Amino acid sequence: MSALKIRVYPDPILRKKAVPVDSFDSELEKFIEEMFIVMRKEDGVGLAAPQVGVSRQIAVVSYEGKNYVLINPKVLELSGSERREEGCLSVPGVYEEVERPSHVVVEAYDEKGDLRKITGDGFLARAFLHEIDHLQGKLFIDYLSVLKRQLIKKKLRKYRKE
Ligand SMILES: [Zn+2]
Repeated sequence: MSALKIRVYPDPILRKKAVPVDSFDSELEKFIEEMFIVMRKEDGVGLAAPQVGVSRQIAVVSYEGKNYVLINPKVLELSGSERREEGCLSVPGVYEEVERPSHVVVEAYDEKGDLRKITGDGFLARAFLHEIDHLQGKLFIDYLSVLKRQLIKKKLRKYRKE
């Protein structure tokens, strides 16, 4: 059973810059396992640690049967551009088109502490960039107009009270 709970916008932790991970141990592995469990339970394709209240540079993505762990990720390459609908577990019920690069190369540690280079194209590039944004305190709705963002905030304030 997992005790992790999804934080919903405008929870302030979603705006904090996450701190890099400096030790790779069994506790970290357990936490990452729990992140995957919560992500699947909530039907997400990606989850960043701040979304479950932990301000650390850890994100997970699951796509087409493959699991990706991104710890202290750095974007090495970006190219192309694509507009597609996007959503976020921390912004429930909101789906909006966002323009993002269509190709990305990321360098990140995995749960064992091994540094890896991961390439993402299309949807996967979008998922990586969305999660890496979370670690910087950035949300996909930041790419929308101010008016649209205010409407979303209002809607979610109501949602949180219910
Ligand atoms: Zn998200």
